Amino acid sequence: MAMTLYPWQEELASQLLAMRDELPNGLLIYGPKGIGTIDLVIRYARSLFCETPDINGEPCGQCKGCKMANACTHPDLRYVMTEAESIPRHIPFDPPSNAQKDRKIYREILIHQPRELTDFLNQTAHEAGGTRIVVVYPADAIRADAAATFLKNLEEPPAKTTFLLVAEDIDRVLPTIRSRCRLLRAKGPSYEEAIAWLKSQGIGDADDALARASGRPCQIIDEKRIETDPEIDSKIKEQLLMLSSLPKQVRDDLLRVLSMGRDLPLDRIAVKDGRTALPVAAVLPVIYRWGYDLLAVQQGLKPHYFPQYGESMVKILKGVKTEHLYAWFDTLKSLQRTVNHPLNAQLVIEQTLLRYRRMMMGKAFD
Ligand SMILES: [Zn+2]
Repeated sequence: MAMTLYPWQEELASQLLAMRDELPNGLLIYGPKGIGTIDLVIRYARSLFCETPDINGEPCGQCKGCKMANACTHPDLRYVMTEAESIPRHIPFDPPSNAQKDRKIYREILIHQPRELTDFLNQTAHEAGGTRIVVVYPADAIRADAAATFLKNLEEPPAKTTFLLVAEDIDRVLPTIRSRCRLLRAKGPSYEEAIAWLKSQGIGDADDALARASGRPCQIIDEKRIETDPEIDSKIKEQLLMLSSLPKQVRDDLLRVLSMGRDLPLDRIAVKDGRTALPVAAVLPVIYRWGYDLLAVQQGLKPHYFPQYGESMVKILKGVKTEHLYAWFDTLKSLQRTVNHPLNAQLVIEQTLLRYRRMMMGKAFD
């Protein structure tokens, strides 16, 4: 059995293990977020510095290489990671020199990061003849101005340097970056596997938890970990958790509004939570799942995510044209791709709800 963190990672772990002695220059591992891929890749990157790994590539955890890699002090292991992804994993993140004090945490890879990487790559490896590893995550959230510098790093790498890139959406990774990497797909668990795993982790209402996390089981555990991490400041915690999920009350409120169908009040379309606009990345999955359920109900099936709203769905779908429902759902699907672009997030949600209202009135939109 190869080195895995989760039961559904067998295949990926064996693929990584097979490359251990002949690492490509660039490896891009892609697949849904929240299934633990980045954590396996970090573990793999660290294991490459172990002096005495076992036959499955499992690091010993005791040698100097392991200790330094685990403490993030190994001079030949670098992370190019967003602040939002670094904090929960205790990976050091240096903000840019012009960073403001009360700013929001960064959710993109910024220009100073590949610049610092260039310096790192220009030095010779710490271990004579040793490998240097650069973990890049999320490779689909590299800001446009940082991408060119990053690409240069990738194009002219020093000998024995390997980039391990992890991305959720391969279509959002620049083609020029993609084409320099060998690709590996990370598969998520089946529904049953996810449920079984969550139950083994002591998650009581696994069905509901999984639906809330859009079917991404590791997100549920990651959130728990963030909530209980004494080293993360409470304000930062709030931001980290808001990125991935909605507070229950806000979610229920949103569902109530959606269940009003054509009577959805226009003043509720401006989705606000107190002074803060809701994060589109957290709102859209809820609307998306609502749409998924509406399609099921339209076909005479039971709603999957929100069974308690089954009756309301039947009611509000009366008079709704199936083609309008499909058209609206299609726009939702394409919107999912924009969720990491905070610009106009508010607008995106408002437009989605306006279209929803029109669709519910039996009208086409646009
Ligand atoms: Zn070791």
